[in-house]
Amino acid sequence: MNPTIQTAELNYCDSLTSYSRRKTIPVRVGDVIIGGDNPIVVQSMTTVDTMDTMGSVEQCIRMIESGCQLIRITAPSIKEAKNLRNIRDELRKRGYNTPLVADIHFTPNAAEIAAGIVEKVRINPGNYADKKKFEVIEYTDESYQEELARIRERFLPLVKICKENGTAMRIGTNHGSLSDRIMSRYGDTPLGMVESALEFLRICEDENYHDIVISMKSSNTQVMVQAYRLLVQKLNEGGFKPYPLHLGVTEAGEAEDGRIKSAVGIGTLLEDGLGDTVRVSLTEDPEFEAPVAKALIDRYISRLPHATIDPIEKYPITPFEHTKRESAEIYNFGGQNVPRVITDISRIDGITEKEMKAVGHFYLPELDKWKMNDLGCDFVYSGDHPIPFMLPNGMREIQNFATWEKSQTRENIYPRYTFEEFQSAQDFHPQLNFLEVFDTQVSEVIPSIRNRKDLVLILKTSNAHGMPALRRAFVSLMDQQIQVPVVVKVSYPDQTADQTMLYAATDVGGLLVDGMGDGILISLEKEKAHTREEVLEQIKLHNNVSFGVLQAARTRMSKTEYISCPSCGRTLFDLQETTAMIRKRTDHLKGVKIGIMGCIVNGPGEMADADYGYVGSGKGKITLYKGKEVIKRSVPSEKAVDELIEIIREDGMWSEPEAI
Ligand code: SF4
Repeated sequence: MNPTIQTAELNYCDSLTSYSRRKTIPVRVGDVIIGGDNPIVVQSMTTVDTMDTMGSVEQCIRMIESGCQLIRITAPSIKEAKNLRNIRDELRKRGYNTPLVADIHFTPNAAEIAAGIVEKVRINPGNYADKKKFEVIEYTDESYQEELARIRERFLPLVKICKENGTAMRIGTNHGSLSDRIMSRYGDTPLGMVESALEFLRICEDENYHDIVISMKSSNTQVMVQAYRLLVQKLNEGGFKPYPLHLGVTEAGEAEDGRIKSAVGIGTLLEDGLGDTVRVSLTEDPEFEAPVAKALIDRYISRLPHATIDPIEKYPITPFEHTKRESAEIYNFGGQNVPRVITDISRIDGITEKEMKAVGHFYLPELDKWKMNDLGCDFVYSGDHPIPFMLPNGMREIQNFATWEKSQTRENIYPRYTFEEFQSAQDFHPQLNFLEVFDTQVSEVIPSIRNRKDLVLILKTSNAHGMPALRRAFVSLMDQQIQVPVVVKVSYPDQTADQTMLYAATDVGGLLVDGMGDGILISLEKEKAHTREEVLEQIKLHNNVSFGVLQAARTRMSKTEYISCPSCGRTLFDLQETTAMIRKRTDHLKGVKIGIMGCIVNGPGEMADADYGYVGSGKGKITLYKGKEVIKRSVPSEKAVDELIEIIREDGMWSEPEAI
């Protein structure tokens, strides 16, 4: 049984059903104000060496021109902290007043210098006063208190400098770099992340210093979402001020995967009304980050008024931990099955074998055989345009009921009903039927589906506050102990590929993170007329995005996962080039997680739950990891990818790529 929480006990968001942005205190960062009634701020981070003043300035300008309102620059030691003054002065000389943020790990003395130069300092509470040793140390209450006293002493000078200079601070917890003290008491849990920030926040509040923004980043979207929610809940319960939140998913990766993963984490929280500043971190040049952040944020500008959603009194979903909604196993949906991908091809009349590559199924005419890649969909929805050949690779087809009813063959073909058709139909498939309904129809539908053991619901909404509307429908099903599997259907008429990725990741990913959804269907139904090639491109995008969303929400691993850092001034190799090279050799290793980190200072901590790690440890030198264990140190970079593959092979996780 899913546990039930009284909604009144949840205070991490204003409402589960009506869009409302959390009210926070405004924090001034130079000319920009984060929080309060101000728009959500877009920010990003440079990747050029901080000692390269002109290179940093040029990159900052490119970032500002791409929409970045706040720029973070790494300051790994005193010399970089001092050079922030040159970067700042040059930017101001060229007429750019964008506030700068110094990024600090391990070096309080660099933070204290930077706080006198730039408008904001980011500290990582996991390593500000602690060195990560990966040791589990048993702390008594007394020794724990001694540790806290040590932190206070180390941290107080920075708080005082910030107060004197009007410098803001971000207390930026990272899931991958919690202190041994926190790990020993809380483990690497959302609660541990929250407590890590609160240790530092209490010191700030004692000093009456409140210019603080907080973040709870992780590369695991479930952990990240839970940690931010828990933070707000604890701030409210603990009587802290409502500090603004900086949202981000760490090491999200590149291209489509990076965008989707960022949107699953950030978008889910924006739907909750949380977040005052956003940084999307991609393994791409930083000027590509701000437009993605902006596209995510812009969705909420005119969210109100949206159609009313019934309020929720008892919440059968656990917002601080992942619990999957219990669903019955119907055919290969629900139960313990991974969520299924249904790809909509209904706009293509008479699809050919060759065109099936858009849904990840490849016909090889010379062999008269079919092959499938990792993104081969489970079902295609053909609507009223049946597939004119035998279905390959165990793939199955869903047709509109009226077409299915007339179909000569029903092998691997299943009907999809509207509610009206369902109510009057006499003809059903003995194993699997699909009923498509709006969120607003769910209460009406429940009596007709309660005892069905052959049914999967396809759930959609027309509400502008889409994800919460769908979530409300899930709550109605859960309240009534209805365990039919549910496929979430979304449609984004004629939007850019980026928007489709970001919106589907938010709307479906946000539900999956909270344990709801047994499948995904991105619909073509509202698309305007396009050429056949354009529709096929659209289908391919939808198919790939569907798998990407399931993976980013950590509910179905169908590809290799790359946890690559976005790079910064510490990076010891060309991250984009190296990621592409590693990807080329390993992207057939389904479900394997590979961390690619630019430096050994933060990399091992930041790659969190990667199975293998490729970490820069010196100029031209790479250290290779299996989990958190160092396997080979200082491998020359020309040999490092081969060595990495060798480690994967020795671990029994390697397979040879298949030619398609
Ligand atoms: S892991 Fe990457 S982004 Fe993080 S500090 Fe090192 S080089 Fe910079």
